[in-house]
Amino acid sequence: MISFSSFPMREELTRAISDLGFETPTPIQQKVIPTLLTEPADIIGLAQTGTGKTAAYGLPLLHHTDLEAGYVQALVLSPTRELCMQIQEEMTKYGAHMDDLRITAVYGGVPIMGQIREVRARPQIIVATPGRLIDLLERKAISLEHVQYVVLDEADEMLNMGFREDIELILKSTPEREFTWLFSATMSNEVRGIAKRFMQEWKEYSVAAANVTNENIDHQYYVANHHNRFETLKRLLDFTPGIYGIIFTRTKQDCQEVSEKLMKMGYHVSPLHGDMDQKMRSKVMERFKAKSLQAIVATDVAARGIDVNDITHVINYELPDDPEVYTHRSGRTARAGKSGICMSIVSPKQISNIRQIEKLVRQKFHKSDIPDGADVVRKRIVFYMEQIATAQPVADFATLFQDTIHEQFVDMDKDDLIRRLIWLQLKDTIDSYQNSEDLNAGFERGRETGRGGRFARIFINIGEKDGLNPARLVQFITESTDMEANLIERVTVKELSSFFNVPSDAAPFLIEQLSQKKYKSRKIRLEETDAKGGGTYEGNRGGDDGGRFKPKPSARFSGDPKSYGSRDGGGSSYKPKKTRY
Ligand code: AMP
Repeated sequence: MISFSSFPMREELTRAISDLGFETPTPIQQKVIPTLLTEPADIIGLAQTGTGKTAAYGLPLLHHTDLEAGYVQALVLSPTRELCMQIQEEMTKYGAHMDDLRITAVYGGVPIMGQIREVRARPQIIVATPGRLIDLLERKAISLEHVQYVVLDEADEMLNMGFREDIELILKSTPEREFTWLFSATMSNEVRGIAKRFMQEWKEYSVAAANVTNENIDHQYYVANHHNRFETLKRLLDFTPGIYGIIFTRTKQDCQEVSEKLMKMGYHVSPLHGDMDQKMRSKVMERFKAKSLQAIVATDVAARGIDVNDITHVINYELPDDPEVYTHRSGRTARAGKSGICMSIVSPKQISNIRQIEKLVRQKFHKSDIPDGADVVRKRIVFYMEQIATAQPVADFATLFQDTIHEQFVDMDKDDLIRRLIWLQLKDTIDSYQNSEDLNAGFERGRETGRGGRFARIFINIGEKDGLNPARLVQFITESTDMEANLIERVTVKELSSFFNVPSDAAPFLIEQLSQKKYKSRKIRLEETDAKGGGTYEGNRGGDDGGRFKPKPSARFSGDPKSYGSRDGGGSSYKPKKTRY
């Protein structure tokens, strides 16, 4: 079997790999690392996230890096900010023993000045999203003149996001480029097109995705703001009577806190984490196996010891950093041919992590609304009625008290009796959900059920002149706000301004968030136009989108911030929707 030590690699890298505990190279690493180390050539690697592709190109890149040279030698392009940050982090770990190594990540959504400073510190390796890199090139803040190695990571994703022109421009800005390594989950015509234009004869390597698909798991995610995480968990538990599950937290502190809070509220749960001694942990497991606990709240490490086959739900109180860990968690349910549900509570910013995990498990996740109070109460009533309907009281219980019971209720109408029983059983739940808030973060509620007439057309005062194209505009919006890319539709970029559609209940938040931003030092101005999904607007720049509609007076949005508030609380007087039933 091939081992890392058999690769003719810098000793510092072998050492770092061993520190990280990597024992054997993954299939893609076995295939490409030897070639890229000894006789680098252009390659295409067909491999998904989770296959170890970052190390497959990262180790050879680091191996070839001249640490004394104070210029950029290698460039890794990736589609999203999150991936950029991950690649930088991962490569920094591999290069931990290489003195003077500087890897800088540049991506949108954060002030550019800090990144300009970092680029000035003469990194040898840059990891970038196309949009931000072009911005830096245009400002002449970065030079790619001496770049020899370019990696296109998740090339298919970059092309899907509309970055083809940007990639081409960047590749053209690397005159000394000798090697291009393209990694992609799929081989589309567009990917092949880029390869044909910019790569010499290349070799192709492909590996199967990690086998982590379990068709019996329904993956669901719930989008809640961070401060609503616990409330959301509580609501999901209330909405899932009969749950037999594991709730995963990232830290021992969270594990302890979350379970204590739930226990105080009367839930049958217990924590399970590494600070508990073996005896305590065994006790918890005994109670869980005997089903006297409805759920355990566990950390990843502690949960390794759980060997239970009929878990109905896994709840991720927080997503793990590593998508692979997600598969370990979700794999706790749907075992032995059964089906199961894995619910994840995510903040709006973490939706991109969901996309990454989707790729790894090769299953689509279902975005689900956090149930409102009425949903919870209805569900509990139905559950209780089913319990009554299927209950099988022991025979002598009935005969023993038959007469007394009969006497007491002889005058009570059946419906009234049932109402009283349900009330007695559920009054705490009913009380606590009287005026419950809508916990769905932001504003996407209901978007999967009906789109017609729900969109607002937004005008923004930046356009082609500012270097925008639709993909860059969407990237700017998603990186500057909590808006998801797939909610932004019908993007039109004109010379001086642009237009796009977003769900109308999201529009005020978006306008508020973006109005505080700048794009290339231009102050952003936005307005909702009258054109419901249509898309023409007579702006003050001379009707550059057709000139048929007038914007609504901006005072409607900017006059009274209280009317829409800020999603993250922060002292605003925003009142979330209340549910009554
Ligand atoms: P990637 O596909 O590059 O996103 O990598 C997925 C995860 O696998 C990362 O957390 C890596 O740190 C880890 N990893 C990469 N190569 C190996 C290896 N040979 N052995 C164990 N873990 C690895």
